Amino acid sequence: MTTRRWRLAAALLLAWGLAASAQQPAPLRAVWLHIRPDERTPQAADAVLGRCQAAHLNAVFLLVYYHGVAAYKSDLVPQEDFVQAGYDALAEYVRAGHQRGMQVHAWFVNADVEYAPADTVLKRHPDWALRDSRGTPTDWLCFARPEVRQYNADVMLEVAKKYQVDGIHFDYIRQPSPDYCYCDYCRKELKTQSVDLDLFGGETLPAVLNVNANPVAEPTTPQVLATFGETVSVRGEKYAPPPADQMPPAITLNTCGQGHVLLYNWSAHQNRARVLGETLKNFLSRYAPQGPIRFLKSPANEVQYGTTSLETVRDHFAKLGLKGATLAAGQLAQAQPAGVVIVPAIYRWGPGDPEALRDFVKGGASAVVIDGPVFAMDNAAIQELLGMKRSGRYFTAEMLLRAAPNQDLVPHSDQEPDVARLREQRARWTEWRCNNVTEAVRLVRERQRKEVPKVQATAAVFSRVDSAREGVLQDWPRWVKEDLIDYALPMAYFEKTPDLKDALDEYDRVVGDWSRLVVGLSLYQNQKGAVPRDPALVVEQTNLSLARHPRGTCFFELHYLDDPIRDALLQGPFAR
Ligand SMILES: [Zn+2]
Repeated sequence: MTTRRWRLAAALLLAWGLAASAQQPAPLRAVWLHIRPDERTPQAADAVLGRCQAAHLNAVFLLVYYHGVAAYKSDLVPQEDFVQAGYDALAEYVRAGHQRGMQVHAWFVNADVEYAPADTVLKRHPDWALRDSRGTPTDWLCFARPEVRQYNADVMLEVAKKYQVDGIHFDYIRQPSPDYCYCDYCRKELKTQSVDLDLFGGETLPAVLNVNANPVAEPTTPQVLATFGETVSVRGEKYAPPPADQMPPAITLNTCGQGHVLLYNWSAHQNRARVLGETLKNFLSRYAPQGPIRFLKSPANEVQYGTTSLETVRDHFAKLGLKGATLAAGQLAQAQPAGVVIVPAIYRWGPGDPEALRDFVKGGASAVVIDGPVFAMDNAAIQELLGMKRSGRYFTAEMLLRAAPNQDLVPHSDQEPDVARLREQRARWTEWRCNNVTEAVRLVRERQRKEVPKVQATAAVFSRVDSAREGVLQDWPRWVKEDLIDYALPMAYFEKTPDLKDALDEYDRVVGDWSRLVVGLSLYQNQKGAVPRDPALVVEQTNLSLARHPRGTCFFELHYLDDPIRDALLQGPFAR
């Protein structure tokens, strides 16, 4: 045991009075932690840790690498302004944390480099980007490339070697969705393995697409342009698609007064398939050739879901060369009914908004509705707008979509695909992509073992095993089994405790070894924006998790640890 380790252990004993259990490490009571915007001094860092310790927390996961930028002194990557100005946040946390007998883990956002400033990794290496089926780069790294895995390991090992951290922590160690990657490297490599990416590119229907659907069902008046067909792969039985005879339509065209409504009956903006962009352009050139394009903004929806879907849809349209202004739902009644209004995954509507949109379309405008307005389907105006009667059940899967033959809005071919072959090809592509992410973790582990054997390697991972693997190519149970990480922290941020229990049961079945698990629990919930949870719920979920004897728990994140939650923890699971 090094001197530093010995001091740490001694401090832990003092701090926790746990002399009796000296052989067994105290359960981790951890929290994920962002550096506060106004926190630029060693005293401020120590005060944050003081707050953690007052809640009897004993470990922090400090976010130090994000958007490709370092909150520490780096010879490899650009540094935050405050580091350049002399405040080395990581060094201060390590120093103050160890003085207080707390563990300090360095937390990395590995694959996602969105919002990166100039001169970060993808600016220097544009060919390292994950690409969609059109070849458009994303702001994520493609881990298929050995040089990307090497870069990632260099970044994490630099910290592990320079700073006395207790661990290095992977996050966003995955893909954003199963819709990638079509970069030159991936195309070339997969060709040598006889996986044909063009089966999933989606120039025309039929094609396999990644479908996350909050569908609406029971069409009355619309023309069905495309249907959901066979399931190629599922992400867990719970969200498997309904049987064929209960399947809602995939794309519909409804006439409402003088206007027309195109409905994508799933989160089509998450797909990058050409066929969807072409369908959209065909619709616009026929029903709204003069524009303008306007993106509908629903304050009622934003309260619960934020503005992500509006931003994603606008971004997606911009990549197709389609730009427009934002129109608040409350302004519809005053707006001239012309052009097209885009409805970007709006599930909640304010009073009068559905009627205003229907009347806007009836007056001669067009609308493109993306994903069903599921919580408004009992509203007669929404029913009339879409020509649908009710909302369906959420489902998610890789599915074959077919175009209806008697229409010319959706590009289609007559070739009927071989579904068995599609399933086989998809499974191999998934396996290959999972392996690439796993190899990125393995490389860090091998170097960590060799160069800094006392530092732990851990990973924040998706809470449900099937969606982790099929949805974001993150086969983390394998990382645990093959000892590529010391423990996994599944982000089990469920608002409903029975859902947490389902996930814990799954870890029992799939992982089994609770010494390799730290359960990630949320301290916030969405209620007119993110707010701290009911303390009783936090206590209930902490107790439920600890009852499985995991290595501990980790909260997301410190900002939401208010006094009532702290007090409830101190009176409950975190009393001495
Ligand atoms: Zn790639």
